[in-house]
Amino acid sequence: MDLDFSKEDLAFRDEVRAFIAEAFDEDMKAHAAQSKNHHIDKAGQVRWLKRLNEKGWIAPDWPVEYGGTGWSAAQKYIFDMEMALAGTPETSNMGLRMCAPVIMAFGTPEQKAQHLPKILSTDVWWCQGYSEPGAGSDLASLSLKADLDGDHYVLNGSKIWTTYAQWAEWMFCLVRTSNEAIRQMGISFLLLDMKTPGISIVPLPTLDGPAEGNQEINQVFFDNVRVPIANRIGEEGQGWTYAKYLLQFERGNAYAPGLSNMLAKVLKIAGTERSDDGRRMLDDPDFRRKLAETQIKVEALNATELRMFAARTAGEAMGAASSMLKLEGSQAQQAITELALEAAGIFAQPFVRDTWAELHGETNVTRAGPDYAATVAPLYFNYRKTSIYAGSNEIQHNIMAKMVLGL
Ligand SMILES: Cc1cc2nc3c(=O)[nH]c(=O)nc-3n(C[C@H](O)[C@H](O)[C@H](O)COP(=O)(O)OP(=O)(O)OC[C@H]3O[C@@H](n4cnc5c(N)ncnc54)[C@H](O)[C@@H]3O)c2cc1C
Repeated sequence: MDLDFSKEDLAFRDEVRAFIAEAFDEDMKAHAAQSKNHHIDKAGQVRWLKRLNEKGWIAPDWPVEYGGTGWSAAQKYIFDMEMALAGTPETSNMGLRMCAPVIMAFGTPEQKAQHLPKILSTDVWWCQGYSEPGAGSDLASLSLKADLDGDHYVLNGSKIWTTYAQWAEWMFCLVRTSNEAIRQMGISFLLLDMKTPGISIVPLPTLDGPAEGNQEINQVFFDNVRVPIANRIGEEGQGWTYAKYLLQFERGNAYAPGLSNMLAKVLKIAGTERSDDGRRMLDDPDFRRKLAETQIKVEALNATELRMFAARTAGEAMGAASSMLKLEGSQAQQAITELALEAAGIFAQPFVRDTWAELHGETNVTRAGPDYAATVAPLYFNYRKTSIYAGSNEIQHNIMAKMVLGL
């Protein structure tokens, strides 16, 4: 692996920087800086994604024939790193990253024509209907029933922890179409319109702040919801295969760029705030040791990601190795939020509501501390999720033990 950037790569980096300088406007910057978890509201995310699409940069991981960029691994790395360092909005676009690869690999020509262009243009927002109240880690025990009735399935049951279901126009969903002895064989993969009668969404408040408007997770109920058979991906009963294919895209993301941005924020806070003995946090030996350990982990992860993404660009499947990125990436995210909380100290305490008030247009909020501390506690609480979603860290350990180490 050659880690030096070529002249062309450096020219590309300048192009990315120029794009960010022009497209990431003051309004978006203000919103991104105020966001508890780097995710701004739906309108903001859609605006940002549409800008990327206009530039032709929205889907670097897609094949060129479907609208991908055809970038080299180095260009993808430069793009991700420049975006993260500039603090551009993180987008939770499940259509782009998760559903689209499944449609490309297993969808019919009609499904591709119907969905892929609208995913690229962000005219349709997607959510993921995998987990259920009794089926998380043990996903194969899912029980949302889909009974055949003419040319439709009729769905009854519920999905839970559904991220931004309230924003979604469509859901990709695992349903039980039969009760085979091997549970995986009775699962099918459906695409469904969230406006179909019989669907209701109940928000689930989380530890990190008030849920109004921008809550992250929900429970979605299905009461005799009719979904055309034509919306099924692939074969009936083969949904487990497609679901597993999707998970490698959900878990195989680049964490290092975002982590670098988070570390830069910690350095800023720790370079200003003081420990009990009056020293800057950055000069506190215990804090420095923990910071250095985390920086080294992020560097190591960065090198691993570069190696794995270079292999992926060369056509190799990531497979179960994506579990390693998910595990290491989520642990580093949590470690950095802990460092930020420690560095911000007492200033991290009172600002959850103030941050949200500003996001909701209340401008007469007086803060008792520096702006950079405002999102530290919400982010710390919010990121407890990273070791749970997309399959808990214990499950990633199990997958690696079995599939990578062959134990
Ligand atoms: C913020 C957030 C957003 C999410 N968004 C979505 C979404 O959009 N769509 C969706 O479908 N799902 C979503 N999820 C659900 C997520 O995938 C599940 O929470 C996750 O798979 C764990 O399932 P569970 O919550 O049912 O916990 P359980 O499966 O009940 O696990 C409880 C605990 O037991 C441990 N455990 C379970 N089985 C084993 C085992 N075999 N070996 C070792 N330890 C084990 C787990 O690691 C965990 O610590 C989201 C979750 C969160 C937190």
